[in-house]
Amino acid sequence: MSRKFSAPDLSSDSCKPPPNPLKYCGVSILLPLPKTPVGDGPTTGEPPNAPPDELWMEEALRCAQRALEAGEVPVGAVAVCEGRIIGRGWNRNIASSDPTAHAEIIALREAGATVGNHRLEECELFVTIEPCAMCAGALVHARIRRLVYGADDPKAGAVRSVVQIVNHPQLNHKIAVRSGVLAGRSAEVLQSFFKNRR
Ligand SMILES: [Zn+2]
Repeated sequence: MSRKFSAPDLSSDSCKPPPNPLKYCGVSILLPLPKTPVGDGPTTGEPPNAPPDELWMEEALRCAQRALEAGEVPVGAVAVCEGRIIGRGWNRNIASSDPTAHAEIIALREAGATVGNHRLEECELFVTIEPCAMCAGALVHARIRRLVYGADDPKAGAVRSVVQIVNHPQLNHKIAVRSGVLAGRSAEVLQSFFKNRR
C-alpha cells in the first residue's frame, strides 16, 4: 500500500454559505502533510501514513460552526476518500425545511455525487456527534468503510448509545468505528447551542 495522503487545507475558510445545499464547498485543494504516525486509537482500517483523524475532525467542527451561525443544531461532517474531502455537510433542517438534512446525509450526498457512485466503500465519514438512526442507516447503505465521530449522543446515538445500527449483528456490512475524537469540543459546541436556546 503506497497511497499518498494529504491533509485538508484548514488555513482557509473553505466552507462558503451554500446557494444549493448539495453543491457547496466542492472538493478541497489539499496541501501536502508531513508523515504523521497514526493508529493509536481503538480502531482499525486506517492506512499507515494517513493524516490523523483529528485533522479531518477539525474540518467537521468547522462545518458544525457553520450550522451554529445559521441557527441550526451544530453538527458537522466530512466524507474523506483516499486522503481527500469529497463531501461536507452541516445540519440544515430549518433552512431546507427538511427533516433528513442532517450533516452526515448532506456529506454523503455530496460524496456520492463527487465520485459518481452511491456506494462509498473506500470512504470514511467524520462527524462531530454520534450519528442518529437515520444517518447510521445511511452509512450502512453507503457501505462506508470507516466512521469516526466525536462525542456520544446519549439521547439519539445509533452506534452504541441508544440503539445499535452500525455493526448490528444481523446486518452484513461492518464499519470500522472510532469514537471520542475531539469529543470535548464537539460536545461543547452542541451544549452551548442548547444552553443559549433556553
Ligand atoms: Zn442524523
